[in-house]
Amino acid sequence: MSAELQIDLGQAQETLALLHNLIQHQRESLKDGVVSKDLEGHLAAWEGIVGRIQHNAWLERGVTLNRLQEATRTLQATPLDWEITIETILDTTIRVTGAERGMLVLLENGKPQVKVTRHIAEDPFKEEDLQFSKSVVQNVLEQGQAILTSNAQLDPRFEGSESIIAYGLHSILCVPLMRQEHVLGVIYLENRARSGTFTLEDRDLLLSFARQAAVSLDNAYAHHQTNLELSRRVRELTMLQEMARDLNARLNFERVMERSVAWAVATAEARAGALGLVAEEGVRWVAQRGELTPDTAAARRALRERRPSYTPERVLLPLLRDGRPLGIFYLVAGERPFTEEHLKFVGQVADNAAIAVENARLYEALLRANQAKSEFVSLVSHEMRTPMTSIRGYADMLSQGMVGQLLPQQEEFIEAISRNVERMRILVSDLLDTSWIETGRLRLTLQPLNLVKAVGEVARALQGQLDEKQQLFVNKVPASLPRITADTDRLTQVLLNLLSNAIKYTPRGGTVAVRADLNAREPGYVTCSVLDTGVGITPEDQQSLFTKFFRSEDPAVQEQIGTGLGLFITKSLIEMHGGRIWVESAKGKGSTFTFTLPLTMPESGIPL
Ligand code: ADP
Repeated sequence: MSAELQIDLGQAQETLALLHNLIQHQRESLKDGVVSKDLEGHLAAWEGIVGRIQHNAWLERGVTLNRLQEATRTLQATPLDWEITIETILDTTIRVTGAERGMLVLLENGKPQVKVTRHIAEDPFKEEDLQFSKSVVQNVLEQGQAILTSNAQLDPRFEGSESIIAYGLHSILCVPLMRQEHVLGVIYLENRARSGTFTLEDRDLLLSFARQAAVSLDNAYAHHQTNLELSRRVRELTMLQEMARDLNARLNFERVMERSVAWAVATAEARAGALGLVAEEGVRWVAQRGELTPDTAAARRALRERRPSYTPERVLLPLLRDGRPLGIFYLVAGERPFTEEHLKFVGQVADNAAIAVENARLYEALLRANQAKSEFVSLVSHEMRTPMTSIRGYADMLSQGMVGQLLPQQEEFIEAISRNVERMRILVSDLLDTSWIETGRLRLTLQPLNLVKAVGEVARALQGQLDEKQQLFVNKVPASLPRITADTDRLTQVLLNLLSNAIKYTPRGGTVAVRADLNAREPGYVTCSVLDTGVGITPEDQQSLFTKFFRSEDPAVQEQIGTGLGLFITKSLIEMHGGRIWVESAKGKGSTFTFTLPLTMPESGIPL
């Protein structure tokens, strides 16, 4: 159908009906009189024209109905996507009605929001273009009734409306999108220059389409909300996970508190935030991010009530552990006011932060206790050295017969005293070293050192023990080995520990050896191994080796004197030198303890 005819049709079916009636009426009134052939002819011609127009109008309606059906099908085939659904509704409406421009408006939090606009010339809507449309839209939103005008310029409802004149608006059709008595929004259509674009049929058809569109919108909205909720939850969980990783990675109290506030501020999208800890005076503010002055009185109140307190501008969130308040977050809103959603999420952040703060506090307390213990051990060990030296001195004098010849039993007793004092000396010395290592007070004096010489000296010192157990000692350290960087006394202590263990835990007649090499896999390092043919170590025991006070349950080990501190000290000393230590062993097959140490640069003497 031509555009002209479409306009004519739009000028109202009523006009056609009226014309038809008029012709009938004219016929009636002229029935008895003489009717001129001409008039007859005119009336018949008019009747024919009106009939054709009406017929065409019905055809057009059929086409519109078909289009509507197609539109409904399009809508039903639309995926459950919010954006696509909105656009499909407007595009379909415009296609079916032949409107020049259109927009879809939805109510969001009670406010109309233009979701999508269309212009057949594809010019975007301008803000001022919407001025007039807004009042029509507002009216439909409020009343829930469609508005149709086929010529707004002449419509008494819009009389005096300057904007109608200014914008030259003619045809307007605006229908509500209703869902169970609620107005969700509107579909607004208009034609500027042409009048009569929209008919009553258009209005009714659009209303029925709008009903289906509202259902589709509702479904797509529910889907959209679910998706939004899902992605929000995923985002929150990811953030919580990152936060847990971040906070658990550190046990430094101050840092944990700083990071906790940073996370709270970020997750609440706050402008600034502070963390207060429960203290004798009520609350002590310990960490802050951004500029703010926390309200201590309000914080005390929230802590007393153990409940969050929240306004759109600020949030007070107690950090609870098993119902016990540890501290409180004080957050101030940025541009966006706080919402219930924020509060829920930041609540979870506070739970995580409470755990991290408690852990860091416990760890700090543990460190302090450990430090105190190490200091105590160090003090006691030191104090024990003097009386022990004196006991050993007197025992030596007695055994050397300096105060007269001893009876065999007296000699035996003095021997026992000396043995036990030696045992105590080793224990005290190991305890002292351990406490120095733990408190970070042990310092190394590094210098170039000849490993072959060092091994030789230690072997000489242990010769008595080797002889006593009739063990063979093999020194395989090549004389050509370059010098290493080490603290002479401490490296001697390492070799002494490893070699005396090898002797201790190897039966009579066994072999103990030391081997050293340039490490091919780690250039710049020397590898040194202490091997024995002794009792060996089970894989389970190997897991606990190098930890403080570990001694194997093996009777062959238990019958030897030991503190379980030697390997711990050895490992610490090697690591302080920049090396590593490990063991290879099998039960009953002997053990090999291997460590690495950095070489010295030949010219400068500075470690590589
Ligand atoms: P200690 O020898 O005083 O017990 P260490 O810390 O030197 O303490 O050694 C810890 C434990 O490691 C020993 O008790 C023993 O069980 C095991 N161990 C160490 N060296 C050897 C070795 N060469 N052969 C078998 N077991 C060993």
